[in-house]
Amino acid sequence: MTKKATEQELLDFFSSLARDGKLFAVSKSSGKWQRIDDVSDIANAFDSTFSPKNIFMPQDQSLLKFSLTDPIGTIEGETSIIPTGTVLWGMHPCDARAIDLIHRVFNENEYRDPYFNAVWNGIIRIAVGCTEPQATCFCTSFAGGSPFGTQGVDILATKLDSRWIFEPITQTGDDFMKSFEPASDNDIAQLTLIKKHATEKVDCNVPTDIAATLWSRFDDNRLWQEIGDRCLGCGICTFVCPSCYCFDINNEHIDKNARRYRTWDACQFSLFTQEASGHNPRPTQKERIRQRMMHKLSFFAKRYDGTQLCVGCGRCVRECPVNIDIRDIAQRATT
Ligand code: SF4
Ligand code: SF4
Repeated sequence: MTKKATEQELLDFFSSLARDGKLFAVSKSSGKWQRIDDVSDIANAFDSTFSPKNIFMPQDQSLLKFSLTDPIGTIEGETSIIPTGTVLWGMHPCDARAIDLIHRVFNENEYRDPYFNAVWNGIIRIAVGCTEPQATCFCTSFAGGSPFGTQGVDILATKLDSRWIFEPITQTGDDFMKSFEPASDNDIAQLTLIKKHATEKVDCNVPTDIAATLWSRFDDNRLWQEIGDRCLGCGICTFVCPSCYCFDINNEHIDKNARRYRTWDACQFSLFTQEASGHNPRPTQKERIRQRMMHKLSFFAKRYDGTQLCVGCGRCVRECPVNIDIRDIAQRATT
């Protein structure tokens, strides 16, 4: 059932979660997604360059620790423990969808990632509907994409003037909202109108059902060389992307205490595919940027029932220092 709360009621509710260490959101002071201690520190998701991907897959994550004196006998896993009732508040619906795509990869057959899944299964995901989409947003270009999308979401919250409307999507979300007051027919009518207006503002003209077409341009040297010549290989596009999930694993030690850890990695880095022999199958930026575009708009779709690994959040478009725009590449690939 759809519920509602005033701004103050929501803050009071969040205060009790924050007191128990059960609230994650964007922090005003750091600009990052993190545990929140003081509700006055909660920012709008658009105030952060990043998505909440780091809550599920930290940029530097210890996987296990051990002692160098007896490595086998002392291995200890370091899976996150999420207290029951912990909430992740405020992500955009496109980010929830992106993290759901990573979940699909990290929870597949025998390859289930215990670190990612411990957070995924333990946290209640409350997304906030985008009532003011940005000029770079193109979520509606994808089948099922919407500024009020519900993929990967337990509860969808939307702000109407000074009150919030909550639409539980999963049973977990429904149970969580039990104590809140039901929304009125008037609230729901207003909500419908706001959703319609906001959705109409989003660019829906980017061609995205292009898995086969893009693949047919794999050997188009001119296309990839021109984009590769501009690309700096900085990896910003991958680090800000909510659906990029490549990582590296290393060991390090201080004296006899060692840990195995993973860090985000990026297909745009020159060493990403370099082999121990020194051979690099993607020796220049031309091959690396082609790989990124192919993975986003062709390879993933071929493997996962036509679903693209881009959700149209627009972050890579906003943050690329040389204005490489995935929307233009999609257009060019189809002309
Ligand atoms: S952000 Fe732009 S310049 Fe940097 S790696 Fe990505 S496409 Fe290349
Ligand atoms: S628009 Fe760019 S940053 Fe956003 S999901 Fe697509 S590829 Fe990733």
